[in-house]
Amino acid sequence: HRDGRRSDKSPSGFRTLRLRAEDSCGREHVLTVKLKSKHPAEAPDCSADLPVPLALPWTPQSTLEQLHAHFLLVLESLTQFWDVLDEIDSKTWILEPERPSRSDTMRRIAIGNNVSIKVELDPRHPKMLPECCLLGAEHGAACASAGRNPDASVLLNLRDVLEIQFPSPATHDKSSFNVECGICYSYRLEAAVPDQVCNDPRCGQPFHQACLYEWLRALPSSRQSFSIVFGECPYCGKPITVKMAAHAP
Ligand SMILES: [Zn+2]
Ligand SMILES: [Zn+2]
Repeated sequence: HRDGRRSDKSPSGFRTLRLRAEDSCGREHVLTVKLKSKHPAEAPDCSADLPVPLALPWTPQSTLEQLHAHFLLVLESLTQFWDVLDEIDSKTWILEPERPSRSDTMRRIAIGNNVSIKVELDPRHPKMLPECCLLGAEHGAACASAGRNPDASVLLNLRDVLEIQFPSPATHDKSSFNVECGICYSYRLEAAVPDQVCNDPRCGQPFHQACLYEWLRALPSSRQSFSIVFGECPYCGKPITVKMAAHAP
């Protein structure tokens, strides 16, 4: 219950309830219900960690039990979506988001050293093959659009369509994916992730745009043309270019 998001100042006579609910697959959910001062004439504010907007019917005769029952129906409509993501989360290494919540529809999945795939699921059509985009040393983005086998899981379809073996927690350690920026050694720099990747396939080291820009700009061997700096990869010495980061000083 201490979720640190209690910044909204509650007027007096304004109560917040947290109703727990378990979906048919045993996942725990919380429905946050803020009762208005004119409750029950005024509908309460309801919120939950869901990938879709939450709209629960309310009349002055409604009860919290009915609200809870409606919430369970909403949860049931999303169980397939969470099934798909739970399979992906348990069988692959997720690089982003760091701690997926029940409302997150995107996953960046590690494929190999410096290569990952970003998939975006539609919560209303979770069994469809998600939109996906390959990130990493091979810049060509392979984006599959159609599912192959309607009986197989999304993860298996992704594997077959993209011909990718996803390293899983069972077979790989997360540290085998070299995903940190090669200059600052962290993954997240403010909101940015290391998306500038050395084009040499044997190197493939990722960098933050701002880190690489600052690094190259400081070297006398680099040259700048308009907003692009041409220099050498700090790791392998092969040519690398970077655009000036929009927020770079
Ligand atoms: Zn960095
Ligand atoms: Zn390199």
